[in-house]
Amino acid sequence: MSADFDVAVIGGGPAGSTMASYLARAGLSVAVFESEIFPRPHVGESLVPATTPVLHEIDALEKIDEAGFPKKYGASWTSAESRDIPNMGYSGLSHGWTADIQFVERNQPGVDRDYTFHVDRAQFDSILLRHADEQGATVFNGVRISKVDFDDPELVRLTCRLASKEMDFTARMVVDASGRQTLLGRQLKVKESDPVFDQYAVHTWFEGLDRNALAGDATQVDHIFVHFLPIKDAWLWQIPITDTITSIGVVTQKKRFAEANTDREKFFWDFVSSRPDLHDALKAARRVRPLKAEGDYSYAMRQICGDRFILIGDAARFVDPIFSSGVSVALNSARIAAQDIIAAHEAGDFSKKRFETYESKLRRAVKYWYEFISIYYRLNVLFTAFVQDPRYRIDVLKMLQGDVYDGEEPKALQAMREVVAEVENNPDHLWHPYLGTLRAPTSAPSF
Ligand SMILES: Cc1cc2nc3c(=O)[nH]c(=O)nc-3n(C[C@H](O)[C@H](O)[C@H](O)COP(=O)(O)OP(=O)(O)OC[C@H]3O[C@@H](n4cnc5c(N)ncnc54)[C@H](O)[C@@H]3O)c2cc1C
Repeated sequence: MSADFDVAVIGGGPAGSTMASYLARAGLSVAVFESEIFPRPHVGESLVPATTPVLHEIDALEKIDEAGFPKKYGASWTSAESRDIPNMGYSGLSHGWTADIQFVERNQPGVDRDYTFHVDRAQFDSILLRHADEQGATVFNGVRISKVDFDDPELVRLTCRLASKEMDFTARMVVDASGRQTLLGRQLKVKESDPVFDQYAVHTWFEGLDRNALAGDATQVDHIFVHFLPIKDAWLWQIPITDTITSIGVVTQKKRFAEANTDREKFFWDFVSSRPDLHDALKAARRVRPLKAEGDYSYAMRQICGDRFILIGDAARFVDPIFSSGVSVALNSARIAAQDIIAAHEAGDFSKKRFETYESKLRRAVKYWYEFISIYYRLNVLFTAFVQDPRYRIDVLKMLQGDVYDGEEPKALQAMREVVAEVENNPDHLWHPYLGTLRAPTSAPSF
């Protein structure tokens, strides 16, 4: 029996639409099933430069350029505490325990510019989905897939509801890009909650926030800002969305929200008020969206590919948004998986072994992210020290650019791992009191 499509993609977010563009451009017949009608809002608004080569390869970069999203030249981390923390011999700590980087400081292979973008995801995701359609993919909007049947060894059968009628579509294989809804991960029971991270975020948009007042200097105004809050494991993002609109989100462990035993509104403002400079600036601005919460978002999958299926983007793995890596992982996982799928199509064989290159490359890259994020939470003074120390700065910047797919372990990671072990094992170490409560990566799940 012949299938309706070569490949069916579940989800039209950045992962799904990028995958569809790659496959359609290679001549495969591909369908994208997206449950929402776009444009729809979505969290995850600050990109890293590793997205650029992918957008370039699928020929979407010009459309993103033309959309006029704010350019992002770097990132800044601030702390309000006048922390009297010993510098332990790290050089360059000239302006306290804050840090900033600019992408121009390191040439990144495949990246022809010193900036990336902050994006309104409603608009960004719509452009990419429309682009997939223009490349030849068949896009179904407002169509939710409820299950995937793998009983037939030659094809997959996807069930959805169309105009209150249940319908089936068939394909030679399926790509799950359903994001944190993790359709296949749940159906196949391969999803594992992260034993360490159980993060929670509350976010919204403000009109008229004075970003100049919050920036250290004029070169930082269009950076993403990560403001450390003087509360353990808590931080706040500040992302420019337009000239006047700024996205603000508070991130912490979910248990802190539970402990606070309060509503979302009070929780948000209580956390913000731990930084009076931010509190005053936000109170002077106007909130233009209701507060939205995101929880239960840290997990891994025991399997990310199998006979006739592949998981990409958030459907494969998500840890924590501290380094704005999500959209970049979505795009790069689509890029790497598409190569295996195109080869599988040419060979007429969609079995698991065809997808092993994807699996090993993605697991390795995400492992670096995971460890980097873990170290950040475990000892964030170390992160600030490494960013500012000329010996490690460029290597840390490589990770912050999202440049983690070449197979080489970032050198700074090894050095950071050793310092964390030293601090953990020595209660007299001057940094010992600054250890965070999250303890990873030794208990990292299968990824
Ligand atoms: C608090 C927070 C802050 C973040 N900040 C950043 C950031 O600053 N920068 C960054 O890069 N990333 C950030 N992220 C991560 C980012 O949001 C994701 O990594 C990114 O959106 C993943 O893209 P995706 O295509 O895999 O999934 P999504 O963008 O979630 O797209 C999945 C799509 O699938 C559709 N879908 C789901 N189920 C079905 C179904 N059954 N049938 C059909 N369609 C379906 C959904 O409607 C959705 O459109 C953040 C995440 C969180 C939680």
